[in-house]
Amino acid sequence: MKVFVYSIHGFDKPFLEKANKENFILGFTEKALNLETVSLSKGYDVVALFSSDDGSAKIIDKLHQNGIKYITLRSAGFDHIDLLKAKSLGIKVANVPEYSPYSIAEHGVAMLMMLNRKLLESQRLIEKQDFRLDTLVGFDVHGKTVGIIGTGKIGFVFAKIMNGFGCNLLGYDITENPKSEKIGLKYTSLETLLRKSDIISLNCPLNHETHHLIDETEFSLLKHGTIIINTARGGVLNTNALIKYLENGKLGGVCLDVYEKEKGLFFFDHRNSVIKDELFLKLRSFKNVLITGHQAFLTNEALLRIAETTFENINDWIQCIDCKNELI
Ligand code: NAD
Repeated sequence: MKVFVYSIHGFDKPFLEKANKENFILGFTEKALNLETVSLSKGYDVVALFSSDDGSAKIIDKLHQNGIKYITLRSAGFDHIDLLKAKSLGIKVANVPEYSPYSIAEHGVAMLMMLNRKLLESQRLIEKQDFRLDTLVGFDVHGKTVGIIGTGKIGFVFAKIMNGFGCNLLGYDITENPKSEKIGLKYTSLETLLRKSDIISLNCPLNHETHHLIDETEFSLLKHGTIIINTARGGVLNTNALIKYLENGKLGGVCLDVYEKEKGLFFFDHRNSVIKDELFLKLRSFKNVLITGHQAFLTNEALLRIAETTFENINDWIQCIDCKNELI
């Protein structure tokens, strides 16, 4: 079995090489899968894709022409793959549904605390030997109402951590998590969650239903000073509307690990180029916006599990065992 790995990075290559216990023949490229790079997969059976790869219908067609039979995703999210197209061509697709919900939830909490307690500003002042505190006032997270949109694996871990902080927990989901009662999380409508929460964490997948789930109307319902954390997918909120509510001062702060137009921007070195994406430049200009480049999953534990599951999926297919992570 020959496996071609797109979008390989320095952070995940060693984990993949170590997890390749069956000694599959591996090909690598740092480039993302797109129309220009799809020909690299010729002669391989499997492609291993990352969240920044393009799995749209026209690319899947070309992968099929190249003889690709399996697509294994090195991610939990699969919004970048046209699953129906793959199915129509007999290409099997599997993901890594659970690698470490802790990695993502903990990153969300880290961002919240960094923004609220102004740690970046504090560090900058210390570097300048300025020990005044006047610009560094935050708030107690204890006692605040935290709304979690999507209370699955990651959302639930986030809720548990916030429970530890002593927060009141509200949840909105299309399927209620039976464990929620144990930590006092109360389900409510999206509208009530938006109206009552001081802090909101987005933890649902991106799909047709959740695209721009938080749009103009939803932003208008928020309390003054609400903090939003998005570690899900950029498209779950409308970035233009977000900017409007940052500009009018309604939002207290925003923590973004994902961004609507991150493809081609995040994961790459742009030090010697001019970023022309006006939306991104605008976002970056706000003092109360904290951005990380889709790094919430980046822990040793998560990377190991992603690499192991990538090969488990391929092994299941080879041995004709039901691949439990198969998506179609
Ligand atoms: P999960 O499937 O365990 O949980 C998702 C939850 O969202 C489920 O409870 C589901 O019912 C709910 N949901 C689905 N549609 C909804 C809707 N319309 N409204 C409200 N809730 C809805 O998934 P998970 O493992 O918790 O991951 C959640 C998302 O986090 C993934 O889909 C992925 O996009 C994102 N993610 C981001 C990173 C990162 O590095 N930033 C890493 C992994 C996953």
